Amino acid sequence: MIRLKSIIHGTCLDLSSEGKGVLKVGQDVVFCDGLFIGEEADVEILYQRAGVYFAKVRKLYKISKDRIQPECKVCTICGGCQFQQLNYRAQLDFKTKRVKNAFNRIAHIKDVEIKPCIGMLDPYNYRNKIQMPFGKDKKGNVVYGFYKQNSHEIIPVKECMIEDKRASSILWDIKELVKEMKIPIYNEYNGKGILRYVLIRTSYHYDELMVVLVTSMMNFPGQNNFLKALLSKHPEITTVVENINPRHTNVILGEKEKILYGSGYIKDSILGLTFDISASSFYQVNPVQVEKLYQNALNLIDFHKNEIVLDAYSGVGTIGLIASKNAKHVISVEINKAAVKNAITNAKKNNIKNIEFHQGDAGEFISNYDGDLDIVIMDPPRKGSDNKFLSTLINKKIKKVIYISCDPETLARDIEYLSKDYEVTYIQPVDMFPMTCHIETICCLSLANKKI
Ligand code: SAH
Repeated sequence: MIRLKSIIHGTCLDLSSEGKGVLKVGQDVVFCDGLFIGEEADVEILYQRAGVYFAKVRKLYKISKDRIQPECKVCTICGGCQFQQLNYRAQLDFKTKRVKNAFNRIAHIKDVEIKPCIGMLDPYNYRNKIQMPFGKDKKGNVVYGFYKQNSHEIIPVKECMIEDKRASSILWDIKELVKEMKIPIYNEYNGKGILRYVLIRTSYHYDELMVVLVTSMMNFPGQNNFLKALLSKHPEITTVVENINPRHTNVILGEKEKILYGSGYIKDSILGLTFDISASSFYQVNPVQVEKLYQNALNLIDFHKNEIVLDAYSGVGTIGLIASKNAKHVISVEINKAAVKNAITNAKKNNIKNIEFHQGDAGEFISNYDGDLDIVIMDPPRKGSDNKFLSTLINKKIKKVIYISCDPETLARDIEYLSKDYEVTYIQPVDMFPMTCHIETICCLSLANKKI
Protein backbone atom coordinates (compact mmCIF):
# COMPACT_ATOMS: atom_id res chain seq x y z
CA MET A 1 0.00 0.00 0.00
CA ILE A 2 1.53 3.31 -1.10
CA ARG A 3 0.43 6.57 0.53
CA LEU A 4 -0.78 9.40 -1.66
CA LYS A 5 1.62 12.39 -1.85
CA SER A 6 4.51 10.17 -0.74
CA ILE A 7 7.82 10.23 -2.63
CA ILE A 8 9.03 6.93 -4.05
CA HIS A 9 12.47 6.22 -5.45
CA GLY A 10 12.54 3.79 -8.35
CA THR A 11 13.68 2.76 -11.81
CA CYS A 12 11.48 2.90 -14.89
CA LEU A 13 11.13 -0.64 -16.19
CA ASP A 14 8.87 -0.15 -19.17
CA LEU A 15 6.41 2.21 -20.87
CA SER A 16 2.67 1.62 -20.60
CA SER A 17 0.52 1.71 -23.74
CA GLU A 18 -0.29 5.35 -22.86
CA GLY A 19 3.42 6.17 -22.87
CA LYS A 20 3.79 6.44 -19.09
CA GLY A 21 6.90 5.18 -17.31
CA VAL A 22 6.20 2.00 -15.33
CA LEU A 23 7.75 1.48 -11.88
CA LYS A 24 7.23 -1.38 -9.47
CA VAL A 25 7.10 -0.99 -5.71
CA GLY A 26 6.72 -4.48 -4.29
CA GLN A 27 3.52 -5.74 -5.91
CA ASP A 28 2.29 -2.23 -6.68
CA VAL A 29 2.52 -0.65 -10.10
CA VAL A 30 3.18 3.07 -10.51
CA PHE A 31 2.66 4.96 -13.80
CA CYS A 32 4.68 8.15 -14.18
CA ASP A 33 4.50 10.74 -16.97
CA GLY A 34 7.76 11.84 -18.62
CA LEU A 35 9.88 8.99 -17.28
CA PHE A 36 11.61 6.66 -19.71
CA ILE A 37 13.03 3.14 -19.60
CA GLY A 38 16.16 2.82 -17.45
CA GLU A 39 15.71 6.18 -15.75
CA GLU A 40 15.95 6.42 -12.00
CA ALA A 41 13.91 9.05 -10.20
CA ASP A 42 12.07 10.27 -7.15
CA VAL A 43 8.39 10.34 -8.06
CA GLU A 44 5.47 11.80 -6.16
CA ILE A 45 2.34 9.66 -5.92
CA LEU A 46 -0.63 11.75 -7.07
CA TYR A 47 -3.61 9.42 -7.15
CA GLN A 48 -4.71 5.83 -7.51
CA ARG A 49 -7.09 4.49 -10.12
CA ALA A 50 -8.15 0.89 -10.82
CA GLY A 51 -5.39 -0.47 -8.59
CA VAL A 52 -2.59 1.51 -10.28
CA TYR A 53 -0.81 4.52 -8.79
CA PHE A 54 -0.11 7.62 -10.88
CA ALA A 55 2.89 9.82 -10.19
CA LYS A 56 4.96 12.73 -11.43
CA VAL A 57 8.74 13.08 -11.56
CA ARG A 58 10.22 15.07 -8.67
CA LYS A 59 13.94 14.46 -9.21
CA LEU A 60 15.81 12.57 -11.91
CA TYR A 61 18.95 10.66 -10.91
CA LYS A 62 19.76 8.55 -13.95
CA ILE A 63 18.85 9.89 -17.39
CA SER A 64 18.07 7.80 -20.48
CA LYS A 65 20.27 8.28 -23.53
CA ASP A 66 17.02 8.71 -25.45
CA ARG A 67 15.92 11.76 -23.45
CA ILE A 68 16.09 15.04 -25.38
CA GLN A 69 15.58 18.70 -24.59
CA PRO A 70 11.90 19.25 -25.54
CA GLU A 71 11.00 21.75 -28.27
CA CYS A 72 7.76 22.51 -26.40
CA LYS A 73 7.87 24.64 -23.26
CA VAL A 74 4.68 23.27 -21.69
CA CYS A 75 5.01 19.57 -22.51
CA THR A 76 5.33 18.53 -18.88
CA ILE A 77 2.02 20.09 -17.91
CA CYS A 78 -0.05 19.91 -21.09
CA GLY A 79 -1.86 16.60 -21.51
CA GLY A 80 -1.43 16.52 -25.33
CA CYS A 81 1.98 14.94 -25.97
CA GLN A 82 3.72 12.19 -24.00
CA PHE A 83 6.98 12.06 -25.92
CA GLN A 84 8.31 15.58 -26.49
CA GLN A 85 11.25 14.58 -24.27
CA LEU A 86 12.00 11.30 -26.04
CA ASN A 87 14.06 11.13 -29.23
CA TYR A 88 12.12 10.20 -32.35
CA ARG A 89 13.90 6.88 -32.92
CA ALA A 90 12.87 5.74 -29.43
CA GLN A 91 9.29 6.92 -30.05
CA LEU A 92 9.08 4.74 -33.15
CA ASP A 93 10.58 1.76 -31.29
CA PHE A 94 7.98 2.22 -28.55
CA LYS A 95 5.18 2.20 -31.13
CA THR A 96 6.40 -0.97 -32.85
CA LYS A 97 6.66 -2.60 -29.45
CA ARG A 98 3.21 -1.41 -28.38
CA VAL A 99 1.68 -3.11 -31.42
CA LYS A 100 3.73 -6.26 -30.79
CA ASN A 101 2.64 -6.40 -27.15
CA ALA A 102 -1.01 -5.95 -28.08
CA PHE A 103 -0.83 -8.82 -30.59
CA ASN A 104 0.97 -11.07 -28.08
CA ARG A 105 -1.10 -10.22 -25.05
CA ILE A 106 -4.59 -9.65 -26.47
CA ALA A 107 -4.72 -11.45 -29.81
CA HIS A 108 -2.41 -14.26 -28.59
CA ILE A 109 -0.48 -14.05 -31.83
CA LYS A 110 3.28 -14.35 -31.38
CA ASP A 111 4.66 -15.71 -34.60
CA VAL A 112 3.89 -12.85 -36.93
CA GLU A 113 6.36 -10.16 -37.99
CA ILE A 114 5.54 -6.63 -36.89
CA LYS A 115 7.22 -4.31 -39.38
CA PRO A 116 9.11 -1.33 -37.91
CA CYS A 117 6.86 1.70 -37.48
CA ILE A 118 7.05 4.08 -40.46
CA GLY A 119 8.08 7.51 -39.20
CA MET A 120 8.27 11.08 -40.49
CA LEU A 121 11.34 12.90 -41.71
CA ASP A 122 10.32 15.96 -39.72
CA PRO A 123 8.03 14.90 -36.89
CA TYR A 124 6.92 18.43 -35.87
CA ASN A 125 4.16 20.82 -37.01
CA TYR A 126 2.28 18.10 -38.85
CA ARG A 127 -1.30 18.44 -37.53
CA ASN A 128 -3.77 19.94 -39.99
CA LYS A 129 -6.46 20.36 -37.34
CA ILE A 130 -6.09 22.10 -34.04
CA GLN A 131 -8.83 22.88 -31.56
CA MET A 132 -8.31 25.00 -28.49
CA PRO A 133 -10.67 25.85 -25.67
CA PHE A 134 -10.90 29.54 -24.75
CA GLY A 135 -11.29 30.50 -21.11
CA LYS A 136 -10.11 32.88 -18.41
CA ASP A 137 -7.19 32.40 -16.07
CA LYS A 138 -7.34 33.12 -12.33
CA LYS A 139 -6.60 36.81 -12.97
CA GLY A 140 -9.44 37.06 -15.49
CA ASN A 141 -7.19 37.22 -18.58
CA VAL A 142 -8.43 35.56 -21.77
CA VAL A 143 -6.43 32.39 -22.42
CA TYR A 144 -6.49 29.51 -24.86
CA GLY A 145 -4.52 26.30 -24.93
CA PHE A 146 -4.93 22.71 -23.89
CA TYR A 147 -6.60 21.23 -20.87
CA LYS A 148 -4.16 20.11 -18.24
CA GLN A 149 -4.26 16.33 -17.96
CA ASN A 150 -7.35 15.09 -16.09
CA SER A 151 -8.65 18.61 -15.52
CA HIS A 152 -10.44 21.51 -17.13
CA GLU A 153 -7.72 24.00 -16.33
CA ILE A 154 -6.42 25.58 -19.54
CA ILE A 155 -2.66 25.54 -20.00
CA PRO A 156 -1.94 28.56 -22.24
CA VAL A 157 -0.12 27.46 -25.39
CA LYS A 158 1.25 30.14 -27.65
CA GLU A 159 2.92 27.75 -30.03
CA CYS A 160 2.05 24.07 -30.20
CA MET A 161 4.95 22.12 -31.69
CA ILE A 162 2.78 19.56 -33.47
CA GLU A 163 0.26 21.89 -35.07
CA ASP A 164 0.59 23.48 -38.52
CA LYS A 165 2.68 26.63 -38.02
CA ARG A 166 0.06 28.81 -39.74
CA ALA A 167 -2.42 28.23 -36.90
CA SER A 168 -0.50 29.78 -34.02
CA SER A 169 -0.49 33.43 -35.10
CA ILE A 170 -4.19 33.22 -36.03
CA LEU A 171 -5.08 31.87 -32.59
CA TRP A 172 -3.02 34.60 -30.93
CA ASP A 173 -4.73 37.34 -32.95
CA ILE A 174 -8.18 35.88 -32.26
CA LYS A 175 -7.38 36.13 -28.56
CA GLU A 176 -6.24 39.75 -28.95
CA LEU A 177 -9.40 40.64 -30.89
CA VAL A 178 -11.64 38.89 -28.39
CA LYS A 179 -10.03 40.97 -25.62
CA GLU A 180 -10.23 44.20 -27.58
CA MET A 181 -13.84 43.71 -28.64
CA LYS A 182 -14.84 42.31 -25.25
CA ILE A 183 -16.46 39.22 -26.71
CA PRO A 184 -17.61 37.25 -23.65
CA ILE A 185 -15.74 33.98 -23.10
CA TYR A 186 -17.94 30.99 -22.29
CA ASN A 187 -17.86 29.84 -18.70
CA GLU A 188 -18.38 26.10 -18.55
CA TYR A 189 -19.45 26.21 -14.91
CA ASN A 190 -22.38 28.61 -15.25
CA GLY A 191 -23.02 28.34 -19.01
CA LYS A 192 -22.68 32.12 -19.50
CA GLY A 193 -20.58 33.77 -22.20
CA ILE A 194 -20.17 33.10 -25.92
CA LEU A 195 -16.83 31.93 -27.33
CA ARG A 196 -16.05 28.31 -26.39
CA TYR A 197 -13.44 26.93 -28.79
CA VAL A 198 -11.55 27.91 -31.90
CA LEU A 199 -10.80 25.18 -34.39
CA ILE A 200 -8.40 25.67 -37.28
CA ARG A 201 -8.09 23.34 -40.27
CA THR A 202 -5.26 23.82 -42.75
CA SER A 203 -4.81 22.36 -46.20
CA TYR A 204 -1.40 20.86 -46.90
CA HIS A 205 -1.54 20.94 -50.68
CA TYR A 206 -3.58 24.12 -51.26
CA ASP A 207 -3.47 27.63 -49.81
CA GLU A 208 -6.71 27.09 -47.93
CA LEU A 209 -7.39 27.55 -44.27
CA MET A 210 -10.59 27.31 -42.21
CA VAL A 211 -11.38 28.96 -38.90
CA VAL A 212 -14.30 27.58 -36.89
CA LEU A 213 -15.62 29.67 -34.01
CA VAL A 214 -17.53 27.46 -31.59
CA THR A 215 -20.02 29.65 -29.77
CA SER A 216 -22.89 29.18 -27.37
CA MET A 217 -25.28 31.33 -29.44
CA MET A 218 -25.86 32.31 -33.05
CA ASN A 219 -24.89 35.81 -34.30
CA PHE A 220 -22.90 36.99 -31.32
CA PRO A 221 -22.76 40.77 -30.81
CA GLY A 222 -19.95 42.42 -32.79
CA GLN A 223 -19.61 39.43 -35.09
CA ASN A 224 -19.21 41.41 -38.32
CA ASN A 225 -16.54 43.71 -36.92
CA PHE A 226 -14.70 40.76 -35.45
CA LEU A 227 -14.75 38.97 -38.77
CA LYS A 228 -13.57 42.03 -40.70
CA ALA A 229 -10.68 42.60 -38.33
CA LEU A 230 -9.64 38.93 -38.37
CA LEU A 231 -9.71 38.68 -42.15
CA SER A 232 -7.74 41.88 -42.62
CA LYS A 233 -5.02 40.56 -40.27
CA HIS A 234 -5.07 37.11 -41.86
CA PRO A 235 -5.95 37.15 -45.53
CA GLU A 236 -4.74 33.54 -45.72
CA ILE A 237 -8.03 32.49 -44.07
CA THR A 238 -10.26 31.23 -46.89
CA THR A 239 -13.37 30.35 -44.91
CA VAL A 240 -14.86 31.06 -41.48
CA VAL A 241 -17.62 28.93 -39.96
CA GLU A 242 -19.56 29.51 -36.79
CA ASN A 243 -20.54 26.33 -35.01
CA ILE A 244 -23.23 26.77 -32.41
CA ASN A 245 -22.98 24.57 -29.36
CA PRO A 246 -25.31 25.74 -26.58
CA ARG A 247 -25.16 22.44 -24.70
CA HIS A 248 -23.39 21.91 -21.39
CA THR A 249 -21.07 19.16 -22.64
CA ASN A 250 -17.46 18.18 -23.29
CA VAL A 251 -18.26 17.54 -26.95
CA ILE A 252 -16.64 20.38 -28.87
CA LEU A 253 -18.91 20.84 -31.87
CA GLY A 254 -22.65 21.44 -31.84
CA GLU A 255 -25.13 20.41 -34.52
CA LYS A 256 -25.82 23.83 -36.06
CA GLU A 257 -23.43 25.64 -38.36
CA LYS A 258 -23.40 28.95 -40.12
CA ILE A 259 -20.91 29.92 -42.80
CA LEU A 260 -19.63 33.43 -42.00
CA TYR A 261 -17.15 33.73 -44.85
CA GLY A 262 -16.12 31.70 -47.91
CA SER A 263 -17.40 28.29 -48.94
CA GLY A 264 -17.59 26.55 -45.55
CA TYR A 265 -15.01 23.95 -46.51
CA ILE A 266 -11.38 23.62 -47.54
CA LYS A 267 -9.91 21.20 -50.02
CA ASP A 268 -6.84 19.05 -49.69
CA SER A 269 -5.48 16.12 -51.60
CA ILE A 270 -4.25 12.60 -50.90
CA LEU A 271 -2.42 10.54 -53.53
CA GLY A 272 -3.61 12.76 -56.35
CA LEU A 273 -7.32 13.03 -55.46
CA THR A 274 -8.85 16.15 -53.93
CA PHE A 275 -11.24 16.14 -51.00
CA ASP A 276 -13.60 18.73 -49.56
CA ILE A 277 -13.36 18.92 -45.80
CA SER A 278 -16.04 20.68 -43.78
CA ALA A 279 -15.84 21.84 -40.16
CA SER A 280 -17.20 18.64 -38.63
CA SER A 281 -16.10 15.89 -41.00
CA PHE A 282 -13.44 13.39 -40.05
CA TYR A 283 -10.22 13.81 -41.98
CA GLN A 284 -6.85 12.25 -41.19
CA VAL A 285 -4.80 14.78 -39.19
CA ASN A 286 -1.38 14.04 -40.63
CA PRO A 287 -1.32 14.92 -44.34
CA VAL A 288 2.20 13.58 -44.91
CA GLN A 289 1.77 10.20 -43.24
CA VAL A 290 -1.74 9.56 -44.58
CA GLU A 291 -0.27 9.00 -48.04
CA LYS A 292 2.11 6.37 -46.66
CA LEU A 293 -0.73 4.78 -44.68
CA TYR A 294 -3.10 4.49 -47.61
CA GLN A 295 -0.38 3.48 -50.08
CA ASN A 296 0.82 0.68 -47.82
CA ALA A 297 -2.73 -0.53 -47.20
CA LEU A 298 -3.70 -0.48 -50.88
CA ASN A 299 -0.43 -2.17 -51.92
CA LEU A 300 -1.77 -5.25 -50.12
CA ILE A 301 -4.40 -5.66 -52.81
CA ASP A 302 -3.40 -7.26 -56.07
CA PHE A 303 -5.83 -5.24 -58.19
CA HIS A 304 -7.02 -6.58 -61.56
CA LYS A 305 -9.84 -4.08 -62.13
CA ASN A 306 -12.39 -6.79 -61.31
CA GLU A 307 -12.52 -6.55 -57.50
CA ILE A 308 -15.54 -5.45 -55.52
CA VAL A 309 -14.29 -3.62 -52.45
CA LEU A 310 -16.14 -2.53 -49.31
CA ASP A 311 -14.69 0.58 -47.63
CA ALA A 312 -16.23 0.41 -44.16
CA TYR A 313 -16.07 3.31 -41.69
CA SER A 314 -15.23 5.40 -44.72
CA GLY A 315 -15.29 9.01 -43.41
CA VAL A 316 -15.32 11.41 -46.37
CA GLY A 317 -14.66 8.49 -48.71
CA THR A 318 -10.89 8.90 -48.99
CA ILE A 319 -9.68 5.27 -49.04
CA GLY A 320 -12.53 3.99 -51.20
CA LEU A 321 -12.11 6.77 -53.76
CA ILE A 322 -8.39 6.07 -54.06
CA ALA A 323 -9.05 2.31 -54.32
CA SER A 324 -11.71 2.86 -56.98
CA LYS A 325 -9.03 3.77 -59.54
CA ASN A 326 -7.95 0.12 -59.61
CA ALA A 327 -11.07 -1.78 -58.52
CA LYS A 328 -14.19 -2.70 -60.47
CA HIS A 329 -16.55 -1.23 -57.92
CA VAL A 330 -16.33 0.23 -54.41
CA ILE A 331 -19.09 0.33 -51.80
CA SER A 332 -18.59 2.74 -48.90
CA VAL A 333 -20.41 2.82 -45.60
CA GLU A 334 -20.16 5.53 -42.95
CA ILE A 335 -22.40 6.53 -40.05
CA ASN A 336 -21.86 10.30 -40.12
CA LYS A 337 -24.31 12.06 -42.47
CA ALA A 338 -22.12 15.12 -43.14
CA ALA A 339 -19.16 12.89 -44.01
CA VAL A 340 -21.28 10.88 -46.48
CA LYS A 341 -22.44 14.11 -48.09
CA ASN A 342 -18.81 15.22 -48.44
CA ALA A 343 -17.92 11.79 -49.85
CA ILE A 344 -20.58 12.06 -52.59
CA THR A 345 -19.27 15.51 -53.56
CA ASN A 346 -15.71 14.18 -53.47
CA ALA A 347 -16.60 11.41 -55.94
CA LYS A 348 -18.25 13.93 -58.29
CA LYS A 349 -15.37 16.40 -58.11
CA ASN A 350 -12.86 13.65 -58.88
CA ASN A 351 -15.13 12.31 -61.62
CA ILE A 352 -15.28 8.84 -60.08
CA LYS A 353 -18.33 6.78 -60.98
CA ASN A 354 -17.58 3.21 -59.86
CA ILE A 355 -18.35 3.93 -56.21
CA GLU A 356 -21.53 4.08 -54.11
CA PHE A 357 -22.03 5.55 -50.66
CA HIS A 358 -24.29 4.38 -47.86
CA GLN A 359 -25.03 6.07 -44.60
CA GLY A 360 -25.48 3.84 -41.59
CA ASP A 361 -23.88 1.42 -39.19
CA ALA A 362 -21.18 -0.66 -40.86
CA GLY A 363 -22.16 -3.90 -39.06
CA GLU A 364 -25.81 -3.43 -39.93
CA PHE A 365 -24.95 -2.68 -43.54
CA ILE A 366 -22.61 -5.60 -44.20
CA SER A 367 -24.92 -8.10 -42.54
CA ASN A 368 -27.81 -7.00 -44.79
CA TYR A 369 -25.73 -6.77 -47.95
CA ASP A 370 -26.22 -9.71 -50.28
CA GLY A 371 -24.06 -8.84 -53.30
CA ASP A 372 -20.53 -10.02 -54.04
CA LEU A 373 -17.60 -8.75 -52.01
CA ASP A 374 -13.97 -9.62 -52.63
CA ILE A 375 -12.10 -7.34 -50.27
CA VAL A 376 -13.07 -5.41 -47.16
CA ILE A 377 -11.08 -2.39 -46.01
CA MET A 378 -12.17 -1.36 -42.53
CA ASP A 379 -11.03 1.70 -40.57
CA PRO A 380 -13.16 1.92 -37.44
CA PRO A 381 -12.83 4.55 -34.70
CA ARG A 382 -10.71 3.98 -31.61
CA LYS A 383 -13.21 1.65 -29.93
CA GLY A 384 -12.78 -0.80 -32.80
CA SER A 385 -15.41 -2.80 -34.65
CA ASP A 386 -18.21 -4.97 -33.27
CA ASN A 387 -19.32 -8.59 -33.31
CA LYS A 388 -21.97 -7.93 -35.91
CA PHE A 389 -19.43 -6.63 -38.40
CA LEU A 390 -16.73 -9.17 -37.58
CA SER A 391 -19.02 -12.23 -37.54
CA THR A 392 -20.39 -11.20 -40.94
CA LEU A 393 -16.86 -11.15 -42.38
CA ILE A 394 -16.50 -14.76 -41.22
CA ASN A 395 -19.97 -15.85 -42.39
CA LYS A 396 -19.50 -14.30 -45.80
CA LYS A 397 -16.02 -15.80 -46.08
CA ILE A 398 -14.50 -12.51 -47.26
CA LYS A 399 -11.15 -13.51 -48.77
CA LYS A 400 -9.09 -10.54 -47.72
CA VAL A 401 -9.64 -8.00 -44.96
CA ILE A 402 -7.45 -4.94 -44.50
CA TYR A 403 -7.97 -3.52 -41.05
CA ILE A 404 -6.64 -0.01 -40.42
CA SER A 405 -6.75 0.93 -36.76
CA CYS A 406 -5.80 3.83 -34.54
CA ASP A 407 -5.77 1.70 -31.40
CA PRO A 408 -3.55 -1.41 -31.23
CA GLU A 409 -5.43 -2.83 -28.24
CA THR A 410 -8.91 -2.80 -29.79
CA LEU A 411 -7.35 -3.97 -33.08
CA ALA A 412 -5.80 -6.95 -31.28
CA ARG A 413 -9.13 -7.71 -29.57
CA ASP A 414 -10.90 -7.80 -32.95
CA ILE A 415 -8.11 -9.83 -34.56
CA GLU A 416 -8.37 -12.39 -31.78
CA TYR A 417 -12.07 -12.75 -32.70
CA LEU A 418 -11.20 -13.22 -36.38
CA SER A 419 -8.10 -15.35 -35.89
CA LYS A 420 -9.96 -18.67 -35.81
CA ASP A 421 -10.89 -18.15 -39.44
CA TYR A 422 -8.24 -15.77 -40.67
CA GLU A 423 -4.49 -15.71 -40.83
CA VAL A 424 -2.69 -12.45 -40.14
CA THR A 425 -0.31 -11.91 -43.04
CA TYR A 426 0.99 -8.39 -42.48
CA ILE A 427 1.21 -5.85 -39.66
CA GLN A 428 2.59 -2.40 -40.36
CA PRO A 429 2.46 0.41 -37.79
CA VAL A 430 2.53 3.94 -39.26
CA ASP A 431 3.28 6.98 -37.12
CA MET A 432 0.41 9.37 -37.76
CA PHE A 433 0.86 11.11 -34.39
CA PRO A 434 4.53 11.89 -33.58
CA MET A 435 5.28 13.11 -30.04
CA THR A 436 2.26 11.22 -28.71
CA CYS A 437 1.78 7.58 -27.71
CA HIS A 438 -0.84 7.07 -30.43
CA ILE A 439 -0.23 4.81 -33.37
CA GLU A 440 -2.00 3.72 -36.53
CA THR A 441 -1.65 0.11 -37.69
CA ILE A 442 -2.41 -1.68 -40.94
CA CYS A 443 -3.24 -5.34 -40.52
CA CYS A 444 -3.93 -7.72 -43.39
CA LEU A 445 -6.00 -10.85 -42.86
CA SER A 446 -6.34 -13.62 -45.33
CA LEU A 447 -8.94 -16.37 -45.36
CA ALA A 448 -7.26 -18.40 -48.07
CA ASN A 449 -3.97 -18.65 -46.18
CA LYS A 450 -5.55 -20.03 -43.03
CA LYS A 451 -4.01 -23.42 -42.33
CA ILE A 452 -6.57 -26.01 -41.25
N1 SAH B 1 -11.54 5.82 -43.36
C1 SAH B 1 -11.68 7.21 -43.05
C2 SAH B 1 -12.30 7.49 -41.69
C3 SAH B 1 -11.76 6.73 -40.52
S1 SAH B 1 -12.29 7.32 -38.94
C4 SAH B 1 -10.35 7.92 -43.22
O1 SAH B 1 -9.29 7.30 -43.32
O2 SAH B 1 -10.36 9.15 -43.25
C5 SAH B 1 -13.60 6.29 -38.52
C6 SAH B 1 -14.90 6.64 -39.17
O3 SAH B 1 -15.88 5.68 -38.73
C7 SAH B 1 -15.48 8.00 -38.78
O4 SAH B 1 -15.75 8.73 -39.96
C8 SAH B 1 -16.78 7.67 -38.03
O5 SAH B 1 -17.82 8.60 -38.27
C9 SAH B 1 -17.13 6.32 -38.61
N2 SAH B 1 -17.97 5.43 -37.77
C10 SAH B 1 -18.00 5.34 -36.42
N3 SAH B 1 -18.86 4.37 -36.04
C11 SAH B 1 -19.37 3.82 -37.16
C12 SAH B 1 -20.31 2.78 -37.41
N4 SAH B 1 -20.85 2.08 -36.41
N5 SAH B 1 -20.60 2.47 -38.68
C13 SAH B 1 -20.04 3.17 -39.71
N6 SAH B 1 -19.16 4.18 -39.55
C14 SAH B 1 -18.82 4.50 -38.29
